[in-house]
Amino acid sequence: MLPSDTESVLLGSLCPLFPKRDPEGHKGTYGRLLMLCGSIGMAGACMMAARAALRSGVGLLNIAIPHALYPILAPAVPEAVFTLYDPDETLEPRLAEALEKADACLVGCGLGTAPYAERIVQTVLEKAECPVVLDADALNILAKTPEKLLTPRVPIIVTPHPGEMARLRGKLMEDIRADRIRTAKEFAAKYRVITVLKGAGTVTAAPNGEVRINTTGNPGMAKGGSGDVLAGITGALLAQGMEPFEAAYAAVCIHGAAGDRCAKRLSEHGMLPTDLIETLPEIFLEIE
Ligand code: AMP
Ligand code: MG
Repeated sequence: MLPSDTESVLLGSLCPLFPKRDPEGHKGTYGRLLMLCGSIGMAGACMMAARAALRSGVGLLNIAIPHALYPILAPAVPEAVFTLYDPDETLEPRLAEALEKADACLVGCGLGTAPYAERIVQTVLEKAECPVVLDADALNILAKTPEKLLTPRVPIIVTPHPGEMARLRGKLMEDIRADRIRTAKEFAAKYRVITVLKGAGTVTAAPNGEVRINTTGNPGMAKGGSGDVLAGITGALLAQGMEPFEAAYAAVCIHGAAGDRCAKRLSEHGMLPTDLIETLPEIFLEIE
């Protein structure tokens, strides 16, 4: 865990990246994030990513989910609007319409890997005109055909944990863990995507070779749901217009700083990913 003065310096260094909120600003000023996340059995991943995005300043959040999830997610995320789809229908036109209005798109948290989820990922890669975050099941889907990621049309941030990176590279997780910096750099350079290889000391690598290592965070964050929170923060910063590599790195720092605050207050054993979300306002108080 970082001493708090080190954390303050780090958060202070992020300040210039966050423009002050314009007193005349309205919700459109702060970006529209489209989330394609969640499936039956994994509504929580969508909920955590959505709430993290809202706690990270996004102006408008549109969550595209199967009809069946609406009764669960609508009361859990009252600030969002929803685009509902039937997984059996032709969902491409509806997704294309939602994508047109988006300033950033987050795909994959709890999405599942059913054939309709594959069509969702394909539609985003073909139609998105905005920066995209690919997490979790979006990466598991792409692991079958990683060449689809090659030379993307829009800025893409991928946020694999070592297991997801191992599937994407067709390697063993131990091999990924053995040289995380090189793995992230090579992936970013080969596919021309910003690569956030998660874990203790998350590596953020850009296609141009730039690499940053995160110093925040702790093993109290090693719990299902932490990655969904990071994905939501990243999507929100992108939707607000932050430069994609800076958005990826800032999100990682903020997420880890929230984790360190939670560990101090609640213990590494007792803290939860949902506590990270509720701690984000404290972190933004230092950044604004
Ligand atoms: P996921 O596996 O997708 O839920 O993501 C887990 C999140 O928790 C990532 O952002 C990791 O970087 C973070 N995390 C997990 N374990 C640790 C650890 N030991 N130290 C710091 N961060 C961690
Ligand atoms: Mg994850």
